[in-house]
Amino acid sequence: MAKILIPTPLRQYTGKLSQVDAPGNTVAAVLDALTAQHADLRKHLYNDAGALRSYVNIYVNDEDIRYLQKSETPVTDADTLTIVPSIAGGSATLTEPIAGEAPNPSDDLTNEEILRYSRHLIMPEVGKEGQLKLKNAKVLLVGAGGLGAPLGLYLAAAGIGRIGLVDFDVVDHTNLHRQVIHGTKDVGRKKLDSAADRMRDINPNVRLDLHEIALTSENAFAVMEPYDIIVDGTDNFPTRYLVNDACVLLGKPNVYGSIFRFEGQATVFAYPGGPCYRCSYPEPPPPGLVPSCAEGGVLGILPGMIGVIQATETVKLILGIGEPLIGRLLRYDALEMRFREYKVRRDPHCPVCGDSPTVTRLIDYQQFCGIPQQVTHTEPAKGEIDVTEVKQKIDRGADFVLVDVREPHEYQIASIPQAKLIPLGELGRRLGELDPDDEIVVHCKSGGRSAKAVEFLRQQGFKDVSNMRGGILAWSDKVDPKVPKY
Ligand SMILES: [Zn+2]
Repeated sequence: MAKILIPTPLRQYTGKLSQVDAPGNTVAAVLDALTAQHADLRKHLYNDAGALRSYVNIYVNDEDIRYLQKSETPVTDADTLTIVPSIAGGSATLTEPIAGEAPNPSDDLTNEEILRYSRHLIMPEVGKEGQLKLKNAKVLLVGAGGLGAPLGLYLAAAGIGRIGLVDFDVVDHTNLHRQVIHGTKDVGRKKLDSAADRMRDINPNVRLDLHEIALTSENAFAVMEPYDIIVDGTDNFPTRYLVNDACVLLGKPNVYGSIFRFEGQATVFAYPGGPCYRCSYPEPPPPGLVPSCAEGGVLGILPGMIGVIQATETVKLILGIGEPLIGRLLRYDALEMRFREYKVRRDPHCPVCGDSPTVTRLIDYQQFCGIPQQVTHTEPAKGEIDVTEVKQKIDRGADFVLVDVREPHEYQIASIPQAKLIPLGELGRRLGELDPDDEIVVHCKSGGRSAKAVEFLRQQGFKDVSNMRGGILAWSDKVDPKVPKY
């Protein structure tokens, strides 16, 4: 029996198991045995043609099977297989620090700086020379949210001379359990302003560039160009691929971190000679398959851990010390309190950093990730129903069934009393509880999962199914403010 480690996003298909033992002499046989035990997992690992999906990587111990014998890689009972999906993200040896020369590099520290950085200065690995490298370094943080918070705090404190921040969001109450750079008094303020105030208080010597924009293919080069290192703290796939491609094309390292629930990943992509994000994940998962932190939740402390790892790697790259996370994907599981490391290789066939790249300029990343253009409408779209109309139906005793496809723990937080709870993942096997001739209205938190449920029910022959637009959040806004928002 080989051991298979199941990542958090896929545990819903293994009855919440984090580890499954399965027999087999090859990767294919073990995965067959695994998906025989847990049938729902199959469609997440394989496409319709029976090939492994390109946003799911399989490791035997610390090696990617693409660099072994793929599905035919031999497996023994002593081996551990790991499924590493991409989450909302040849090893080079570092000899030279990454920071370029500033136009007017500082060649000295003030007495105030010497006192401030004294615990750095007394370490020979940093010293005055290293602290001057930090002072002359220019780092861009993409995102001032969960990962951006510890990054901003620690990189400012460490004395990075110039820090750019990219964000266009506003602090809200749901940010406060993890985005520790913002305080309760900052709710409603721009994250850029709130983060900048805190960073200036920590270290007034740092030059801050505030970019109140969404990074796009049009502006990415101009925004990123002045910086030595780009730190990716974003929360969505289009921006991750954009940051990756721009880093490769500009020749700047991308210090990568991503988080989901209790699990995080960190590595350094796009360092010259090292792999990039696309070497690891050539294609994004289909929209909606991998939940975001807003949909799936995240332990508040987790971005602290991963952001601090990113900050550490950034400082090491600038100083040119230690062994950087190039070609090594570090995975952290907070529940097990375990770190695991996997090799990531540069793929000579990679479309952006390979030997014959096909992506030589920035593309449309929304389209690449299969995300349709945002349609702004005020009238319900076809198949959607407004919350006020659902309320009227309930009030007049209309004959219909309201189905809530969220999880039971969400139902405990907030619910509509008339709703019948059938979590989306259970809908397939609980179809018998619904009558295809009934009128059915489906709701979730904000409308995403219920849209999938509506599509599924229609495929199953249900004729009169509609999606409650905006979910229970809209219900709280427009029908019953006593229902809490979460
Ligand atoms: Zn690549």
